[in-house]
Amino acid sequence: MTTTINHYINGAQYSKASDRSGEIFNPATGEVTAHVAFATPAVLDEAVASAAKAGAEWGKTSLTKRVQVLFAFREILNARKEEVAALITAEHGKVLSDALGEVTRGLEVVEFACGLPHLLKGGYSEGVSNGIDVYSIRQPLGVVGIISPFNFPAMVPMWFFPVAIAAGNAVIIKPSEKDPSASMLIAHMWKQAGLPDGVFNVVHGDKVVVDAMLAHPGIASISFVGSTPIARYIYESATKNGKRVQALGGAKNHMLVLPDADLELAADAAVNAGFGSAGERCMAISVLVAVEPVADAIIAKITERMLKLSTGDGTKGSDMGPLVTRVHRDKVASYVEAGIKEGATVVVDGRNPQVNGAANGFWLGPTLFDNVKPTMSIYTDEIFGPVLSVVRVKSYEEGVNLINSHIYGNGTAIFTNDGGAARRFQNEIQVGMIGINVPIPVPAAYYSFGGWKSSLFGDTHAHGSEGFHFFTRGKVVTSRWLDPSHGGINLGFPQN
Ligand code: NAD
Repeated sequence: MTTTINHYINGAQYSKASDRSGEIFNPATGEVTAHVAFATPAVLDEAVASAAKAGAEWGKTSLTKRVQVLFAFREILNARKEEVAALITAEHGKVLSDALGEVTRGLEVVEFACGLPHLLKGGYSEGVSNGIDVYSIRQPLGVVGIISPFNFPAMVPMWFFPVAIAAGNAVIIKPSEKDPSASMLIAHMWKQAGLPDGVFNVVHGDKVVVDAMLAHPGIASISFVGSTPIARYIYESATKNGKRVQALGGAKNHMLVLPDADLELAADAAVNAGFGSAGERCMAISVLVAVEPVADAIIAKITERMLKLSTGDGTKGSDMGPLVTRVHRDKVASYVEAGIKEGATVVVDGRNPQVNGAANGFWLGPTLFDNVKPTMSIYTDEIFGPVLSVVRVKSYEEGVNLINSHIYGNGTAIFTNDGGAARRFQNEIQVGMIGINVPIPVPAAYYSFGGWKSSLFGDTHAHGSEGFHFFTRGKVVTSRWLDPSHGGINLGFPQN
């Protein structure tokens, strides 16, 4: 008998049982460790009603008080971050140190959001016309929805909810049904921090509740992160229903290695960024573009490093953990088979790894392909696993054209010691986040995170000033205090 994780509505765990639920696995053992209740549209109605009521009050709460709650939440999360990390490893499989890194990156967004009084300041122009002043204010949207993916169960929701709450909104989060526990612990932390009941709610589930969120008239905006086909669907459906939407999608991140690069450091970076979190990162490097004559040399260096990587249980000091589910593990393995069939050269084959962990874990070791061509499915598709493809090109221009031709544009990196080439790359590349000798260029919390092309639908990126913009609506006030000089009839626009 396993426990069932239920929703969190109005400051408490939901008590009514659900007809439908999903299984939660420990990916390192393959065992079902819990179930998660799936919400119906009626449960969502309850969450929205409670959020609307609490949000109306929270939006009127002074900035000073809001900062105090945010600070308290920051302190609690910081003190209990190991607990969150342990939950992530238990349900996602990533190694503990990486899970802790994820929480730390989310914490940085909470710290950024503590600056809310400054970030919510409007503008003021005195004397724009005769005795007339103009000023702008930004107000909360009301109830906002967040729908998140399995691969960052703490960090991705934290790209959004600290900013949304700081801006005076109430939140309904629908975490991935594969690893929902981090959100539940975070909900308890908010309560401990003094956030009023109903401002932070968690509903669990699948497409049924997602569709209900997209259609619900009480939800003003949707912040979605997940695969591109679903992101496109979310964007199209929710905007049709009049909602503000930011929908972040999939990725295929290229690392361009120029002949002058330090190949030892580039090989370290390719292995860290290719196989960290078993490649289940939207900013993972999945394609290395080697500008000849460097391909043979860098492949040798990467291979040497890969053969030393340990795969195993994330709680036992391994370099790389299991994949999230057996279905996903098998899908990634099928891409390795497809790559071989399509004619790529498999340099390291991860399909039968030596593992430090239980026999039934969802294991797949790191795989390296050489001679990958742009028409192969291992190049065109997002694999989202520990598979790194090397494409050989003759020049910088050929490399840039290749990257710009891909449908995804989330992150990319260039490795070079030539400042001029790096500067040209940042100007010419059609990708949202760029690393110069940095393989995973996730922007700091006070900048905004987001890709281009099929990696993001909508025009607003996550956190930073764009986050505050997304979670607020602008008003501009034109004001004058009347005196006799304002009298008289004039039907035209004022001229000065
Ligand atoms: P997913 O698209 O399967 O699921 C994301 C969310 O959508 C989940 O909450 C899920 O329950 C819900 N969902 C799934 N199918 C749905 C459907 N048919 N209708 C409505 N809702 C549905 O993604 P995932 O497998 O959880 O996460 C991995 C994906 O997320 C990868 O493609 C990865 O690149 C992407 N991702 C992108 C970023 C980014 O910043 N661009 C960050 C993290 C992850």
